[in-house]
Amino acid sequence: MAQVLITGGAGFIGSHTCLVLLQAGHRLVVLDSFVTSNPASLRRVLELAGGVASERLTVIEGDLRQPSSLDRAFSAMAGRCDAVIHFAGLKAVAQSVHQPLLYWDVNVGGSTQLLSAMARNGCHTLVFSSSATVYGFPETIPIQETAPVLPINPYGHTKAAVERMLADLATSETHWRIARLRYFNPVGAHPSGQIGENPLGPPDNLFPYVSQVAVGRIARLQIYGDDWPTADGTGIRDYIHVMDLAEGHLAALEVLWNEQPQLLTLNLGSGIGHSVLEVVRAFEAASGRTVPYGVAPRRAGDAARSVADPSEAERRLGWRTRRDLETMCLDGWAWQSSHPDGFSSQASNP
Ligand code: NAD
Ligand code: UDP
Repeated sequence: MAQVLITGGAGFIGSHTCLVLLQAGHRLVVLDSFVTSNPASLRRVLELAGGVASERLTVIEGDLRQPSSLDRAFSAMAGRCDAVIHFAGLKAVAQSVHQPLLYWDVNVGGSTQLLSAMARNGCHTLVFSSSATVYGFPETIPIQETAPVLPINPYGHTKAAVERMLADLATSETHWRIARLRYFNPVGAHPSGQIGENPLGPPDNLFPYVSQVAVGRIARLQIYGDDWPTADGTGIRDYIHVMDLAEGHLAALEVLWNEQPQLLTLNLGSGIGHSVLEVVRAFEAASGRTVPYGVAPRRAGDAARSVADPSEAERRLGWRTRRDLETMCLDGWAWQSSHPDGFSSQASNP
C-alpha cells in the first residue's frame, strides 16, 4: 500500500483516478479547493470503493498556492508520501484568454509551490496532468511525443511551462521520478453513473455539451464548422474514456516506482479519431435522445484534427485504452441522465 497525494482529486479526472487507486489498495490524501468541483464526488468515490475505503482517504480543503495548505496535506501523510498526482488546475481555454494571470498563478505558481513542498517533505515522484493542447496546431497526425510543443493559448502556455519546469528539475536533480502525461480528450464517466464530469457553467467542451443537450438542459448544439478538411467536414478528436485515463495513472505510478528515476513524457489517447458528427450520432444511439444541432462558424484556435499516437504509452506502461466511443457515450449518459444538474442537485444526498 502506497501513500499518494492527489491534488485536484475531487475533479472529473481526479475522482475517477481516486477510485482506481483506492481499489488498488492505496491510501490517498486529496488536496482540493473545490473551486471547480464538489466534495460530493469524493463521498461517491468512497461508496463505489466500498468496504473500509474511507479509512484510506483523507480530504484536505485548501488552495495549492498556499504553502500552509500543502503542509497540512503532507502532515496528513505522517512523513511518508510515495507520490503525488497533480491534477489541480484551471482548464478552460476561453477563460485563460481573458484571465491569463489567473492561469499562470494557479497552474504554474501552484505547481511551483507543490514542487517546493514535495522537496521539503522528501517526496520526489510526480505524475503531472499535461494536455494535448501543448501541441497547438499539430503538423503530423497521429501526434508523437516528439512533435514540437507550440501551444496557442494561455492555458496551453501554462501546461508547457510546467512541463519545462519539470524537465529542468529532472535534469538538475536526477533522483526525481516524473511522468508528464498529455491527455487527449477525456470523456465519459464511471459506468455506475455515480461520478462524472460536473461543469460549473455552460460546458466549453463537446462531450458535456452534447450530454446536456440530450438531457434537455441546453436546447441545441452548435457545431463549430462543417467545412474542415475531414470526411464529414467536422473536427476530429481523440476521445478517451475517463476510466481508461484513470487506469493510465495507476500504470504510470507503477512504472515510476519500479524503474530507475526518469522523466517520462507520454500521450494518453486511444489513437482513434472521431468527428463531431460521429460523437453526436453515437450519443443519440446511447441515450435514445435526439441531439438537435446547428452549424456555426469555426471556433478560433481550433485544429481540424488531433489524434494521439499512443504507442509509446503502450510500450512504456503496458497500458492502452479498452473502452470505445459507444461505451464512453453509454457511461456518460448513465451519469448525465441520473444527475441532470450534476452533483449540485445531489449534494445533500450523496
Ligand atoms: P476539474 O476542473 O474537474 O478538476 C480540477 C480540480 O482541481 C478541481 O477539483 C478543482 O477544485 C481543483 N483546483 C483547481 N485549482 C485549485 C487550487 N488552486 N488548489 C487546489 N485545488 C484546485 O478538471 P479535470 O478535467 O479533472 O482536469 C484535471 C487536470 O487535467 C487539470 O490539470 C487539467 O488541466 C488537465 N487536463 C484536463 C483535460 C480535460 O479535458 N478534462 C484535458 C487535458 C488535461
Ligand atoms: N465543438 C463543437 N461545438 C461545441 C464544442 C466543441 O462543434 O460546442 C467541436 C470543436 O470545434 C472540436 C471538437 O468539438 O472540433 C472537440 O472540442 P472540445 O472543446 O471538446 O475539445 P478540444 O477542441 O479542446 O480538443
